[in-house]
Amino acid sequence: MKTANSISIKTAQEIAILRDAGKILAEISEDLKRSLREGITTREVDQVAEKLIRQRAVVPAFKGYRDFPGCVCISVNEEVVHGVPSNRLLRAGDIVSLDVGIIHKEYYSDTALTVGIGTIRDALKKLLDVTSQSLDKGIEQARAGNHLSDISHAIQTFVEANHFSVVRDFVGHGIGKSLHEDPEIPNFGPAHNGPILKEGMVFAIEPMVNMGTWQTKILEDGWTVVTQDGAASAHFEHTVAITAKGPEILTRA
Ligand code: MG
Repeated sequence: MKTANSISIKTAQEIAILRDAGKILAEISEDLKRSLREGITTREVDQVAEKLIRQRAVVPAFKGYRDFPGCVCISVNEEVVHGVPSNRLLRAGDIVSLDVGIIHKEYYSDTALTVGIGTIRDALKKLLDVTSQSLDKGIEQARAGNHLSDISHAIQTFVEANHFSVVRDFVGHGIGKSLHEDPEIPNFGPAHNGPILKEGMVFAIEPMVNMGTWQTKILEDGWTVVTQDGAASAHFEHTVAITAKGPEILTRA
């Protein structure tokens, strides 16, 4: 069912499938996180991801999406999102974002997290903590009766209070039978704007937070997004359903 502003409202049956999809994806993401170590290439990480996805009899959502070559977007340090699996070796002190999506019974689920390899410097630890917490702040606003931009505003306010910046060029999205549905969910903007949130909406909320400037550019591979100033970036994402009891994180481990 579509509302006037074309944000789809999922039935209880659809939410149940999305809940199963989210649970499976959370397990995959946690297992994949454990495979990260110094000296592994991002292509090897992608191969682990493909195995984990196939083992659970679900479909990798990103592989072949607009010709993306991997199952997982792996973005290291100054890479923001959409990192293409490659020969890049992970090193101690790196931060690595893993963004994974699956299709389960025709429904998409999408999640991302960022972790450190070995010991990382304190400033990077703070970047990871603030980005993860900003996602929590955004999710907290994903409630029936709120405006869409209440999510955006909560994220931006928290990030900027911690002296980091939010990426403008990439945003969260509705999700369901398509990977990217309406609405776009920016991680910035004033509160109390945009559509009113309703029970049954399902969103992928995904702050991308930079240590320096919010500006980004795309590398020559046509995919990998990096910060313009080369400073580090982190990314956390959950698929979240708006329910009568408030936000339900479908991709929580
Ligand atoms: Mg997403």
